[in-house]
Amino acid sequence: SLKAIATPTRTKEILAKYGFSFKKSLGQNFIIDVNVLKNIIETAEIDQQTGVMEIGPGMGALTEQLALYSNHVVAFEIDQRLTPILEETLNPYQNISIVYQDVLQADVANIIATHFSPEQDVKVVANLPYYVTTPILMRLLMDRLPISSITVMIQKEVADRMAARPNTKSYGSLSIAVQYYTEAKVALNVPKTVFMPQPNVDSAVLHLQIRTTPLVKVNDESFFFDLVQASFAQRRKTLRNNLSRHFSEQYTKEELENKMLQAGIDGTRRGESLSIQEFANLANVFV
Ligand code: SAM
Repeated sequence: SLKAIATPTRTKEILAKYGFSFKKSLGQNFIIDVNVLKNIIETAEIDQQTGVMEIGPGMGALTEQLALYSNHVVAFEIDQRLTPILEETLNPYQNISIVYQDVLQADVANIIATHFSPEQDVKVVANLPYYVTTPILMRLLMDRLPISSITVMIQKEVADRMAARPNTKSYGSLSIAVQYYTEAKVALNVPKTVFMPQPNVDSAVLHLQIRTTPLVKVNDESFFFDLVQASFAQRRKTLRNNLSRHFSEQYTKEELENKMLQAGIDGTRRGESLSIQEFANLANVFV
């Protein structure tokens, strides 16, 4: 039986053998606890038929567990210094492909088409580099890739914002952007102690089930997201105030009052009280 990569001893051994130094700028916090990895995999609901796309395999801690429980793993890694390490640690597994590319630059759709069969269920599972969490997730969602879910370890505060409901402190334009495309839930909180080196923020596992059609019907997506952003520009201000500031060049106050009236939304409300459906109704009155 093989000793898992995700243990403090094995991780330290590998670090020493290759003289590897963590790059904070690449969000390199590696997992040293197999139970956390099993919890992530359970949340992702993968089986021996599932195709898995990972972002940032690091030393292969999660990659190894994914290889054991899925059909095939394709992992994007930006740091070429990890090449000899991954060649050694993942050597026992035949169902892993590592792509040494920045996932934000890669042709992800093409790589999915190359490595998985068209009928195969493909899921994203990763312990993301925290400095680029939002750009990575938004890109995966906006590119409308053929993936059914995304299960990622990210900074807890960001996970809470992505899954937040109206009338909570965490609810904002990020919640709406993510929930427009997915059903979002925070599956579990993870302590700092399972990482090496320990990050200075708390972590959580976020599960995003991708919707077959967006949550709400909007006539113009970019206008909808622009309106949402504007509505949260100053959280303490009313919707009326935020919108008249943002649209001062295009609409008079009276015109804006009229739009809100048409959408059945009281201008004295704050953005944080509007549901995603209400934002859609309001946006659709404009365009
Ligand atoms: N999966 C490993 C684990 O759980 O132990 C490592 C996770 S570590 C938080 C993030 C990994 O993402 C690092 O290996 C880092 O080099 C890699 N990374 C950072 N930015 C990346 C990018 N833009 N594209 C692909 N990989 C990236």
